[in-house]
Amino acid sequence: MSVKVEPRGTLGILGGGQLARMMTKEATRMGYRVVIFDPDPNCPAAIVADECVVAKLTDREKVLAGAKQCDVVTIDTEHIPASILADIEKVASVLPSSNVMATIQDRAAQRAFLAKHDFPSPDSMPVSTPEELKAAVARIGAPSILKTRTGGYDGKGQARLKTVEDAESAWESLGKRPCILEAFVDFSMEISALVARRPDGRMVFYENAENVHRDGILHTTIAPARIPKELGERAQKLATEIAEALGHVGMMAVEMFVTNDNRLLVNEIAPRVHNSGHFTLGACACNQFEQHVRAVFGLPLGDTTQPRPSVMLNLLGDLWQKGAPAWRALESPHANLHLYGKRDARPGRKMGHVTVVHQDIDECLRIAHDIDAKL
Ligand code: AMP
Repeated sequence: MSVKVEPRGTLGILGGGQLARMMTKEATRMGYRVVIFDPDPNCPAAIVADECVVAKLTDREKVLAGAKQCDVVTIDTEHIPASILADIEKVASVLPSSNVMATIQDRAAQRAFLAKHDFPSPDSMPVSTPEELKAAVARIGAPSILKTRTGGYDGKGQARLKTVEDAESAWESLGKRPCILEAFVDFSMEISALVARRPDGRMVFYENAENVHRDGILHTTIAPARIPKELGERAQKLATEIAEALGHVGMMAVEMFVTNDNRLLVNEIAPRVHNSGHFTLGACACNQFEQHVRAVFGLPLGDTTQPRPSVMLNLLGDLWQKGAPAWRALESPHANLHLYGKRDARPGRKMGHVTVVHQDIDECLRIAHDIDAKL
């Protein structure tokens, strides 16, 4: 007698970029059905998912109708109105929740949350009017960075103030939108702490990631971060406390600055899988994408042990500007290529990444730098 087997459940993902693609691959491997919500039916995740609801993520009606078939809805992008997430919560479990997203999406609200719980972050002030700009410049001074409250990513929506005289033009360059003015941090390193939290509060964390940015975009991640053990433990503790205070469920990355006197300042909270956690796919028994699926479906969390160091190198669209990259550069057996299936290579666009795993961290770096130079 044949017995019909249903999928274990249906996961909806709002946005169909590379994060959704890598989550989809893990979720389908684990027996879940995956529905992507994206305006482009050929987006990186849709081509590996069971179904794509072709809709703008601001199209409340279409998104709600599609969400009815999902047990859990999660996100690929943070740029989804929290009010739409709140509506979806009436028909499915939404993780991260609309509450978490409302706090995270607005840089001013995020900083207020951090301040309320005494989590350290760079000195900053909200700026919505010329008077507030004046007051913020008077207190924070320069060098500093003006950041739009919403919609910024990969260094977009930011303007630097070298001197206080730059304030007006910086604000104009951002369209006089609501911003925060933030003190420039002379950091010795940028790291992210990567944690996962289940609905019952149980948590796991990965090795911290050491991140090198170029032009505001992540270029390289080195894991474990090359910092003293005590500092690493402090970063992990800080991230777990933030996840608890937020009541977040799923993967979360907390980006932090390490100051020259070894203080940690939280720059940004990402309540989702994160670019700086891509190394876990290849370096850890349970990667961040599977971990997120486990967490949002309330399964036992997976093993985050990392037996060998890893370096992850982002591949941006710039590499394609003179034709296909020189793939023969990937001759090392320790390097793994991930391409996201994007058909259009624009400068600055994340097209894929390479992960190098090797028992010697210096050798990881040497291989990664060699590939970077040759590609
Ligand atoms: P964000 O979009 O806020 O993550 O910023 C992108 C990058 O800009 C960060 O990863 C840092 O390299 C740099 N950056 C942002 N804020 C600051 C700051 N307050 N001080 C120094 N560098 C910063």
